[in-house]
Amino acid sequence: MWPPDGIGQVTYKVGRALDRAGRMIEAPWVCGQGWYWGCVNNPYFRRLQVDRVLWSLQGGASVIQHDDPRAAIAAVSFGGCWCGYCRQRAARLGYDLQSQMLAFQTSSTVSYVRALRSQTDTASGFAVPMSCNNFRMKLGIPHTLFDYGMCEIDPADADLGVLEQAYRQFERMNWMQVVTLRSADIALNRAAIARVHALGGAMLYPYNVYMPSGSRFSADAASIALLYRFVRAIGALLDASRFIDQTPATFLTADSLAALERARVGTIVRRAGAQTVLHFVPASSDRSVPPVDISCAAPSGELSVRSAERPDPRVLQRNAFAIAPWDWSTLTIGA
Ligand SMILES: [Zn+2]
Repeated sequence: MWPPDGIGQVTYKVGRALDRAGRMIEAPWVCGQGWYWGCVNNPYFRRLQVDRVLWSLQGGASVIQHDDPRAAIAAVSFGGCWCGYCRQRAARLGYDLQSQMLAFQTSSTVSYVRALRSQTDTASGFAVPMSCNNFRMKLGIPHTLFDYGMCEIDPADADLGVLEQAYRQFERMNWMQVVTLRSADIALNRAAIARVHALGGAMLYPYNVYMPSGSRFSADAASIALLYRFVRAIGALLDASRFIDQTPATFLTADSLAALERARVGTIVRRAGAQTVLHFVPASSDRSVPPVDISCAAPSGELSVRSAERPDPRVLQRNAFAIAPWDWSTLTIGA
C-alpha cells in the first residue's frame, strides 16, 4: 500500500507508517525501492487515499480496486506502525502497542476502510463500487468491507472441485469473487474461464497477469476471445444461475457420464429459475479430440444446447447430442 504522493508524483512519503525507531517502513517484497507503506491513522494519508479515488472517478473510472486491503494489519509483520497518530489513537482506545499491535491495527484498518468508503460515496454523490485483493480467495475482515474480491489464483486452485467448493461458499455469503490465473497453460486458462464463470464468478482476461516467477503473461487472443464472447452471450443465464444439490447423474445416462469422464470433461449443474443448466467445461485445447455423445436420462421440457466455439450445436435427435471436449458447451433443460 504505497500510493504516490500526488498526480504525477514519484515520491511516497506523505502519511507513511513508521517503525519503532521512527523510520518509514517498506514491504519486504519491495525493500529498498523507497515505496513507503501508508499509515491508515495518519490524516494526510487518509486524505490522499480519498483524493486518489475522486481523481480516478473524475478521470472516468467507474469501479475502484484497492490493492493491499490488509493495510495496517499487514504492516504489523514488517514493523509498524508506531507513529504519533497511532500512539495517540491507541492511548485513546486503551490499546497497549507493545502487546496489542495486531488487534489495534485491525481496528485501525476497519476504521480506515469504512471512512474511505463513506467519504468517497459522500463526495461523489453515489455508492462507489470498490473491490479488493483477497489472497487465496480468503474472506473476513477487512475483505468483506469491500464489494467483491480479486485474487490471483494458482493452478491447483483452478481445479474444478476446489473452485466449486469455494464458489458454493461465496454464493451462501452473497460474495462476488473475481480471479486471474497465474499460469501460461492455455488449456488450463480456457478451462478456468469456463469453470469460474459457470460457477458464478468472473475471471479477468489473461492479459499482463502477474506470474509466480515475477514475469507477466498475456494469452494469445485467438485462443481465448471466443470464450468471453460466450460469457456475454449467456450472461443473463449465468447471472440468474444458482447451485442446486443435484449432480449430472440426475440428468444424463450412465454411458454419457462415463464418456465425459474418459474425455476429462468437467460438469457443473446450476439452476436459473425454471431452467436447469449443465455446463460442460473444456478439457483440452486439442481440436482433433473426437466429440462425446451425450444422452439425457429423463429430460423434462425443452432441451437447448449452446457452445462457445462451434457455430451450430443442436439437439439432433430427441434427448441426444454431442459436445466437443475442447469447447465450452451448455445444456439448458426446461422452459
Ligand atoms: Zn501510524
